[in-house]
Amino acid sequence: MTSFSIHGVGVSSGIAIGHAHLVSNALLEVVHYQLPKHLVEDEIQRFSDAIATVKHDLEQINQDLRKNAPAELSAFIGTHLMMLADKSLSETPKAIIRKEQCNAEWAIKLQMDEIVEQFEQIEDDYLRERKQDVIQVVERVIKVLLGHSQQLSTEQLASAIHQERKQILVAHDISPADAIQFKQHEFAAFITDVGGVTSHTAILARSLNIPSIVALQKARDLINDGELIIVDGLQGMVIVNPDKSILTEYKLRQEQWELEQQKLQRIKTTKAVSLDGIAIELLANIEVPEDVAAVKASGATGIGLYRTEFLFMNRREMPDESEQYVAYKTVAEAMNGAPVVIRTLDLGADKQMNPDTVVECANPALGLRAIRYCLAEPQIFHTQLRALLRASHFGNIKILIPMLSTLAELRQTKLLLERAKASLRKENIPFNEHIALGGMIEIPAAAINAEAFAKELDFLSIGTNDLIQYTLAIDRTDDAVAHLYNPLHPSVLKLIAMTIKAGEKLGKSVSVCGEMAGETKLTKLLIGMGLRQLSMHPSHILSVKQQVLHSQLSELNKDVRKVLALTDIEKIEPLVAKFYQT
Ligand code: PEP
Ligand code: MG
Repeated sequence: MTSFSIHGVGVSSGIAIGHAHLVSNALLEVVHYQLPKHLVEDEIQRFSDAIATVKHDLEQINQDLRKNAPAELSAFIGTHLMMLADKSLSETPKAIIRKEQCNAEWAIKLQMDEIVEQFEQIEDDYLRERKQDVIQVVERVIKVLLGHSQQLSTEQLASAIHQERKQILVAHDISPADAIQFKQHEFAAFITDVGGVTSHTAILARSLNIPSIVALQKARDLINDGELIIVDGLQGMVIVNPDKSILTEYKLRQEQWELEQQKLQRIKTTKAVSLDGIAIELLANIEVPEDVAAVKASGATGIGLYRTEFLFMNRREMPDESEQYVAYKTVAEAMNGAPVVIRTLDLGADKQMNPDTVVECANPALGLRAIRYCLAEPQIFHTQLRALLRASHFGNIKILIPMLSTLAELRQTKLLLERAKASLRKENIPFNEHIALGGMIEIPAAAINAEAFAKELDFLSIGTNDLIQYTLAIDRTDDAVAHLYNPLHPSVLKLIAMTIKAGEKLGKSVSVCGEMAGETKLTKLLIGMGLRQLSMHPSHILSVKQQVLHSQLSELNKDVRKVLALTDIEKIEPLVAKFYQT
């Protein structure tokens, strides 16, 4: 057996070694046949029954969702249910069966091709990828029509249950509904042919915490069922039929990786303090209230970024004040007085309320998003501000404003905040009169003018994801320019340094809450630059803490000054890497 490797996009780190389990692709099995006229109505009935079965199955999965299942899963199942209920999937195929006198599988596949074609016309990457949801739902219906089990080959899995930890799922694509079964079965990894970095598969992979790779193109064709494979999530590489020496090497790497993960647990309650006694606050980023459990398990000392827009997604109506109030209060109470930084609505660009929303403007990332949208829709903003203020009575809530670019936006926001406060006072509803107000520095204009913002705010938080996107003119969701997206670009570092300096000058705290904060290879640089607060995905807290514990800040400060004096990424990268060579 020849050994070879396939390369894709690693979306979740770690190493898995196991046998390939190929997930069947029902769509490939659909054939076309003509029906005699008298059987057409029966065929339509067979189609309706299949839709009802899939609806029932999805609802059942939703109900069975474990409490600790990633919140995204439930939202994704909801999306699939919505798609199934759409007339274009549940009704139009009936008309096709009637008109063409064809089998139900063929009719729904024809309709799916039509819908997918429409999705392909969409320019926005994120929205275009939603066509995968349509395909996944149709695949479920076809499986039922073909009489396949809805489970992922459960019989096969059951017979190999004791081995499942060693099984690696190889699929063309994986639906969120199927991913739930992974959670229950504890597979070693999963790899797929399709899926960009913003696909549901990628988002789920991260929350399931198993190594995985997407965009492998032809993995399902090249790998045979049962073949031994190695998945290196960090490198985005799959090795098929590894020879003995490669296998030994990877077994060793895998053991080391697992040992490191276990060892990290030992520092869960240790304070994040550098070797020379400087404390660094490590906070967590969350998307939904259910994430608080992961925050508590991570040892984070608070929440540095609660992205409230997720409460507004996958639904037709905006959440009202009381729904928002309950969500914010739940998080504040659960955090028991620890800081909870709640960011106001950051809808727009790749974060739309509904996955099927077609974005009309040419450059949504430069459009009416975040605070711009809120100021244009003062009633929506007022509702959120009132909910936040009411919740502030129950914990240590701070408000964070996204995407500020001018002082006028900030002043207008403050006026609206005052108006929300006044309305609550009038109704005798308690809230924290001195609630802290912070601003995100994620547009170069705000970083350059950071001092002015620091004067009028209580704290600053650097959103490096957008700051890099806007500084380097690189769409953060576009795969084609991903190789140019570099946090170590000297201009990015200069903007971060300017923001830190402004905070220091005016005695206001500055944190980083973009992905940079969770990257261990950047920890020493960030704290060396003077940052004392980092907010990241809960799963990164311990590895970042370990870097803090091994840092000598007095030394790092000197080295970082040399980095900031450089103008060439190629010189910056090796110098930053050197911080880790002790
Ligand atoms: C950022 O831009 O860095 C950030 C934290 O906000 P988001 O990723 O939600 O845009
Ligand atoms: Mg941002």
